[in-house]
Amino acid sequence: AGQQHTAHGNSLKLCTNAPFDPFEFEQDGTIVGFDIDLARLVAKAAGKPLEVVNVDFDAISDGSALREGRCDLAAAGITITPERQRQVDFSRPYFEASQALLTRKKSKVKSLKDADQVGVQTGTTGLDYVRQEGLEPVEYDDSMEQLLALQTDEVDALVQDRPVVAVWLTKFKLSGELKLIGSLDTGEQYGMAVRKGDDALLGTVNRALDAARQDGTYERLYKQWFGG
Ligand code: GLN
Repeated sequence: AGQQHTAHGNSLKLCTNAPFDPFEFEQDGTIVGFDIDLARLVAKAAGKPLEVVNVDFDAISDGSALREGRCDLAAAGITITPERQRQVDFSRPYFEASQALLTRKKSKVKSLKDADQVGVQTGTTGLDYVRQEGLEPVEYDDSMEQLLALQTDEVDALVQDRPVVAVWLTKFKLSGELKLIGSLDTGEQYGMAVRKGDDALLGTVNRALDAARQDGTYERLYKQWFGG
C-alpha cells in the first residue's frame, strides 16, 4: 500500500523475467538481451539510467509488479492480449511470435493430443493455448525449468514461444536431443507494458520504438540477437 505510482525515481525500473533467451537472460552476472536493449533506448529517451528487476512472469502478465511499483516498465516477450490490456497499457507491437511444440528426439509424441504431460510456463499464452486444447499442463516458473523437465522425462512435450525454442535448438545445440513437432500459429505480438494510465511513459516508449525502426537500430539489434 502507498507504493502505487511511486516507481518514478531517478532510474527507469524495468521488470523482466529471465531466462527467456534471446529476449532476456543472464550473462556474466547481468541480464542482457533484445528486450533489454530496446528498454535501454526507452530509458535513454526518458533521460534515466535503466535498472533491471527480475520477477516472475505471472507478476508481469497480471500487472501486479507494475501496480505495486516494483517497476515502471515491463518487457518480457509479453504477448498483447485483451485480458492483459485490462491490467496494463501496452506499447505498439515490436515483435511477432507463435508457439512451438517440442519433444525429445526419441519420443513417439506427434501432436499435443499424444502427450500425457505437457510442460508450460506459468502465466503465459502457451499455458492458455494448451488449456484451450482441453489439456491440463504442468506449470514451471521459468523457461529453463521447463526445458529441464523435458530433458529429464518429467514431461513428454512442451509448448513455448517459438523464438525461444529456436534458441534452444541452435545456440544451445539441442537439435540432436530435441525435435520441433509443431508450430502453433497463434499470431502473437509482443508489446512493452506500463501501468494503466501512465500515458507519459507510454508515449516515450512508442516514440523510442518508432525511432529505432526508422534509424536502423531495431534492425541492428534484431540481427545481433537473432542472427541473419
Ligand atoms: N509470449 C508469452 C506470453 O506472453 C511468453 C512470455 C514469457 O514467457 N516471457 O505469455
